[in-house]
Amino acid sequence: MLSQAEDVEPSNHAEFNELMRRLDQVAMRLSPRQKLHLRYLQARRVAFAGNYAAALPSLTAIADQTVDPVLAFRASANVIDLLVAESRYEEAFVRLNPLLEQLPKMKEYDVRIQGLTATAQLYSEAGQYDTSIRYADELIKESTDAQSACKGWFLKFDALFQSGTVQLPADQLRKGTEACEKAGDTLFALSFQHLLASFDMRQGRLGSAFRLLQANYPKVLRAGFPPQISELEATLAEVYWKGGDLALATKFAHRALASNADRPYSESTANAYQVLSEVDKKTGDSEGALANLEKYVIAHDGYESRRSAKVLAYQIVRQQVLAKKLQIDRLDKQNRVLQLQRALDKKAIETTRLYLILLLTVLAFIAFVAVRIKRSQLRFMRMARRDGLTGLFNRQHFLDEAQRQLQYCRKSARDACLVLIDLDHFKNINDTHGHVVGDEVLKRAVVACQAHLRSTDVFGRLGGEEFGILLPECSLERVSERVEQLRLAIAEIPAADALCVPVSASFGVATTVFSGYELRQLLIHADDALYQAKNSGRNRAVVFDDADLLRQAGMRKSRVGTPMAEPTA
Ligand code: GH3
Ligand code: MG
Ligand code: MG
Repeated sequence: MLSQAEDVEPSNHAEFNELMRRLDQVAMRLSPRQKLHLRYLQARRVAFAGNYAAALPSLTAIADQTVDPVLAFRASANVIDLLVAESRYEEAFVRLNPLLEQLPKMKEYDVRIQGLTATAQLYSEAGQYDTSIRYADELIKESTDAQSACKGWFLKFDALFQSGTVQLPADQLRKGTEACEKAGDTLFALSFQHLLASFDMRQGRLGSAFRLLQANYPKVLRAGFPPQISELEATLAEVYWKGGDLALATKFAHRALASNADRPYSESTANAYQVLSEVDKKTGDSEGALANLEKYVIAHDGYESRRSAKVLAYQIVRQQVLAKKLQIDRLDKQNRVLQLQRALDKKAIETTRLYLILLLTVLAFIAFVAVRIKRSQLRFMRMARRDGLTGLFNRQHFLDEAQRQLQYCRKSARDACLVLIDLDHFKNINDTHGHVVGDEVLKRAVVACQAHLRSTDVFGRLGGEEFGILLPECSLERVSERVEQLRLAIAEIPAADALCVPVSASFGVATTVFSGYELRQLLIHADDALYQAKNSGRNRAVVFDDADLLRQAGMRKSRVGTPMAEPTA
């Protein structure tokens, strides 16, 4: 019954009302969804009766609240219709955008037809005739039934008429007429006939217009839609006036006004007053003519101001939509900038990390090179300080170290001894056994001595087969004993291994007790003692003592006395 009512609503209002009466009786038995559908049809019936104000809240509630997207869409399309009828254009245009967004999702044929119809109508109301024609064309294209096709043709031709078109293209006129003839006496088909009459009048074809209108009039009366009736009656009044039938012109003008009693600012009301004014003028009733002219102006102004209000509302909403879009674009851009910023930050962190890795690599490399340099430096230093064969301090380094130790001993007032060692008849060893064996003997002699030295003793190779040892904190009493250990250690080398080369060494010792802390002086005295050791048979140690001091002093005196006797050695 619901869909039946839906079907007959545009064409047979009596049957529609009967179905609605029966539906009202069974309303309690309907499902919630069916109830909403019934509420929708009831609202449409209220609207059809011309009570838009009452129908609007009901349809708006259905449009905004129902979970059924199709019903919401249909209710929305109706709300737009009624808002327009109520001159609430801004609200109508605000609702149009969401409706247009929903349109592509709507698959139901009649819902699409309804949406396209409402859209084409609204754009036409806003004076956007090209857009209106676009939607009307879409409506014609999608229509599979004559009624919908007729709607499309009516909307298209109406937009063309409003935009000032004089003559319709013949093929389109034919197609439109065919569709609307097939559609039967629907509101749109009747309006279509009226529209054709208006085109005729615009071209001055009064007879054709009159025939169309006259044939249409009873049908329009039967359809019972007051605005449509009024429009037709006003046009008929105009035709009669133009045809010179003042009585019928007056009669239809009054009928038009009566049918339109509750719409004082409509085009048909204005047209009716204009006809009345013209008739009064013609019959010499200037007072009546003036009064009707005044009413015409009021109706016309109201009608025109409504038209401009529509256009204005459309522009306002369009601007609002544009502003909103701009805002969304701006937000979108801001968002993109933020995203870019984030990506940039991430890149910056990555770059920083790379720099850090690079820096660390360079630092590690520098450290590596530095360590290598330091190592080779140390190696070079060692090489510069050490003797290659024995690993002992070389002459220069020995002298430096000995000097340091002596200063330390001098400060702490401790005794120290300097020992010079010279291997005996070393030349013979070389000559007898070769240099290689000689070298080996040198190394073993060093190792043998080291076994009896302390860590603080300074041991160095002064050159060839001569060595020096500074013994810090070594008293005169202790030194003979220690040097004797060294002498024995060297002398025992041949017995200790298979070398079988007789080795011995002579030792010259000087102590700070007699020679002081000057290294130079100690060297001279130790050398003197060594010389004595060699001279007295080798393989022994001689300690330079006070007797030697006296001897040296005596030598110096005698040298002063007898310069010619200076020794050559
Ligand atoms: P003396 O008992 O008087 O000290 O006799 P000597 O042969 O030890 O003394 P001399 O100074 O005449 O000889 C020292 C020799 O030491 C001369 C040289 O060939 C040898 N000599 C010097 N340096 C080295 C070396 O590094 N290796 C070897 N194998 N021989 C060296
Ligand atoms: Mg020598
Ligand atoms: Mg020697």
